[in-house]
Amino acid sequence: MSKIVMKFGGTSVADIKIMKNAVSKICEEINNKKKVIAVVSAMGKTTDELVKQVKEISSIYDAREYDAILSTGENISASLLVLLLQNEGINARSWQGWQIPINTTENHSNARILSICSNKLEKKFSSGMQVAVVAGFQGISKNNRITTLGRGGSDTSAVALAASTKAERCDIYTDVDGVYTTDPRITSEAKKLDKISYEEMLELASLGAKVLQTRSVELAMQYKVKVRVLNSFNKGSGTILCDEEEIMEKRVVSGITFSKDEAKLTILSVKDKPGVAGIVFDCLSKANINVDMIIQNISDKNLTDVTFSCPTDQVKIAKESLEKGKSNKILDYNRLDIDTQVSKISIVGIGMRSHSGIAQTMFKTLGDENINIKVISTSEIKISVLIERKYLELAVQALHEAFKLSNI
Ligand code: ADP
Ligand code: ASP
Ligand code: MG
Repeated sequence: MSKIVMKFGGTSVADIKIMKNAVSKICEEINNKKKVIAVVSAMGKTTDELVKQVKEISSIYDAREYDAILSTGENISASLLVLLLQNEGINARSWQGWQIPINTTENHSNARILSICSNKLEKKFSSGMQVAVVAGFQGISKNNRITTLGRGGSDTSAVALAASTKAERCDIYTDVDGVYTTDPRITSEAKKLDKISYEEMLELASLGAKVLQTRSVELAMQYKVKVRVLNSFNKGSGTILCDEEEIMEKRVVSGITFSKDEAKLTILSVKDKPGVAGIVFDCLSKANINVDMIIQNISDKNLTDVTFSCPTDQVKIAKESLEKGKSNKILDYNRLDIDTQVSKISIVGIGMRSHSGIAQTMFKTLGDENINIKVISTSEIKISVLIERKYLELAVQALHEAFKLSNI
């Protein structure tokens, strides 16, 4: 009995009329004699609205209740989709995370899947169920509390279910034709990629491309899940995630991605001696700050400046944790400068391993547009820079052209 997982994102289940598209995609697979696990997101912007309601009560809230509230969005879309399928004479039922169960850590609002017990699903499939509609984004902790998997987490639910049920494929249906060379909303020059390596997709996702949640790509890579990204509203072959070896022509740069809301913090005049950087980042890590890029500037008279970046919504806590370190005399510095008007832009490609001059092209292109680079970081297959936010779109478009990505 071959199974496939089909995941429908928020825009693909935005209302009943739109959900009928999902029904017809599912019917096509049923006609191909497949059993289907359909994973759904909440309808349209439901999750954003639920977050807003929670925050209307207070900015400090019980994370367990936050998850219980957020998970309701997916419960509604799962059951509505089942009713539509039943109308077509299909044997379908809905499954919430706890009913499967999808077991997760207790890290509310950003839980990780620990295990999925698919016995109950399998039993139902054997007794005639054709479609299991699973509420994405949610699971259950060992304390019997509902958890959620972080924004965009339905992708991860889908890939994890595909891995645990040994599904033939995991098709991610969304509102674009596949994975593009950059966010198609930024430039009409963006081109859909037929294939992308897991590694490149992992970098693109973790550096800001929200088309797939980073954790879903990690799981796909680890469990060798065949993932396709497809458009819910059009026919087309989408983008296949595959091993690097399956891509004949290695592109030097496959994609450009960005993270809009970044901040740059500079701690001025800290002592330039062993152990100080450890203290700085210990303060930040205790406050759960996601520090990203780091640079230490040239030392002068045994004093140095340390610059790092983090998401803008963490700036307040980062500032408080450093100030606390200073008032507790754990850390000594002269001043803290904060720039909340920066964005991170990254170029990603496996071909970078074997080609030189990529950084030079990137920096020259930005320079020619008069865009100043504030911080740089690199890995084997990516280069990221921090720039002023107002130049973000211009920078994406200029780099897209410089690396000839519209000719891919
Ligand atoms: P869903 O609700 O289906 O999960 P998301 O909004 O999470 O959809 O992800 C799809 C969106 O990701 C697209 O509408 C697009 O704007 C954005 N996106 C960002 N980078 C890329 C990229 N490189 N390729 C395709 N889409 C991208
Ligand atoms: N509904 C959740 C969100 O908006 C999960 C998802 O869509 O994948 O983040
Ligand atoms: Mg998504």
